[in-house]
Amino acid sequence: MKLVTFRSQGRDAVGALVDDGKNIVDLTAAGLAVDMLDLIENFAGRKAGIAALVASRAGVQAADGVSILAPILAPHRNIFCVGKNYHEHAAEFGGSGFDSGSIGGAEVPDYPIIFSKPPSSVIGPGEAVVSANDPYDSVDYEAELAVIIGRKGRVSDANDPMSFVFGYTILNDVTSRELQKRHKQWLLGKGIDTFAPMGPAIVTAEALGDISGLGIRTLVNGELRQSARIGDLIFDVPTLIRTIGRSITLLPGDIIATGTPAGVGIGFKPPRYLKAGDRVRVEVDSIGVLENPVT
Ligand code: MG
Repeated sequence: MKLVTFRSQGRDAVGALVDDGKNIVDLTAAGLAVDMLDLIENFAGRKAGIAALVASRAGVQAADGVSILAPILAPHRNIFCVGKNYHEHAAEFGGSGFDSGSIGGAEVPDYPIIFSKPPSSVIGPGEAVVSANDPYDSVDYEAELAVIIGRKGRVSDANDPMSFVFGYTILNDVTSRELQKRHKQWLLGKGIDTFAPMGPAIVTAEALGDISGLGIRTLVNGELRQSARIGDLIFDVPTLIRTIGRSITLLPGDIIATGTPAGVGIGFKPPRYLKAGDRVRVEVDSIGVLENPVT
């Protein structure tokens, strides 16, 4: 199932994409979801009702007649993010001179590097990344698969980390490289307003199956910059969930951005930062396309 948050005639709603994304069935109008967080929390009990509604096509409408928003409009807390989680990206970042966190020149971390982005950084598909919010004009893109957590709990040796996964979406971990470098901790450089484009859809884990073969790409103004497979992650999804959930109670609607492959702007010499007028397109196979203008 592909789930979206959308705005139609001034009203925000949750819908299920049908007919290869051409149409939307409105779950909110049918009383099956107040918003995406409500749906994630209560999905198990509503799944049969949603399937019946989708099969009936009741209230179906054209997807191109509505505005698709960020799937989770207001995350209830910071987005968990992972640094240096693809080998080639770890090498390009280590060699860029921007890696304030590098210890002893080690490029590939021994353990996952976890940081976060605040909810106020989130924007939806088509919304503008405001480059002026970076005082140093050093805006960079990072294509990432994002995991959406489906249930509350801590991860122990007795439970399967993947049992916490509700689904997946796309996140562009937009970054001010200068702020990231100057302030050591990454929150300031990564937490900027409009620097977390997300969406368009959350695809449920059961619909997606094995994610390791999925391709992830970034195109800037149509030029391919990043291309990898999710299976290239240094620390895979279960390892990330276990790392975070071992000590922090996971909550339904939590978002974990899993890291970016090689090909970011600072990997070029000189760096190729984003500028006003650019269009950034992030694709993940079977999930969708997240495209945002830069202003
Ligand atoms: Mg990142």
